[in-house]
Amino acid sequence: MNKREFVKGLILFFPAAGLLRALGRELDAAPAGAPGAAGKESGSTGPGAEPAGGMPAKAYDADSHYYGMGIEVDKCIGCSRCVEACKAENDVPREPFFFRTWIERYDIKRNGEVLVESVNAPSKKPPEVAPDDRDVIRSFFVPKLCNNCANPPCVQVCPVGATFATKDGVVLIDKERCIGCRYCIQACPYGARYLDPRTKTADKCTFCYHRVVKDLLPACVEVCPTQARIFGDLKSRASRLVRFQRMNRIHVLKPALNTEPKVYYAQLDGEVR
Ligand code: SF4
Ligand code: SF4
Repeated sequence: MNKREFVKGLILFFPAAGLLRALGRELDAAPAGAPGAAGKESGSTGPGAEPAGGMPAKAYDADSHYYGMGIEVDKCIGCSRCVEACKAENDVPREPFFFRTWIERYDIKRNGEVLVESVNAPSKKPPEVAPDDRDVIRSFFVPKLCNNCANPPCVQVCPVGATFATKDGVVLIDKERCIGCRYCIQACPYGARYLDPRTKTADKCTFCYHRVVKDLLPACVEVCPTQARIFGDLKSRASRLVRFQRMNRIHVLKPALNTEPKVYYAQLDGEVR
């Protein structure tokens, strides 16, 4: 049994956060190359991380950026190119249960009923009563992804510090340290995380951090044919995202939870959860 498996076993039997965090820190302190020695996600400049993945050391200053994404709901046509691009870019499992980003279709019926279905993983169970299109008064698509929250519950619950927030406002997962306990998956109120069946570690959208630190756009933003997705730096007044925020009435998902999401929606219907 290696150190990572040992800590996971302890967590399942003794979910005492203080002790476990200490053990997590011990894992981090393990010598490089030793089983359980921690390393941040490739390309990460997270707290204390060394530049990696061939990135030049001088290239990127996390202190001078703070990232977010905008979504113009009226522009989304539900084509799922973003979802496909994300899967290819981030090696997300192909099966239709694993997503870093996905599209939901909302149908609002005349009687006030709201039907929600993922475009990318439609439910297999047929509806009990076949829907009558004439009952639907409004339909629209809502792209969803990790909100890279400024106050992220997933970070708070992680017992080994594998989930952490970077200075530039992105929540990352250290795969070397993650023990696959799923606490973060349960804590995320947006259903934005999944357990990768190949690595048994948590995964989610990182705003394509490995691209962003090289001044590239996230893959989903780059391929969107209608420019429904806008990525930008909230610290730069000239960024498209800041302009988008100025020009639109902005909503975030589940604002009452105080997670401070950094995915900002324009034209968001009140029925969207
Ligand atoms: Fe964490 Fe979920 Fe917020 Fe993403 S959306 S930062 S996974 S709580
Ligand atoms: Fe942390 Fe989530 Fe991995 Fe558990 S599954 S160790 S909470 S990142």
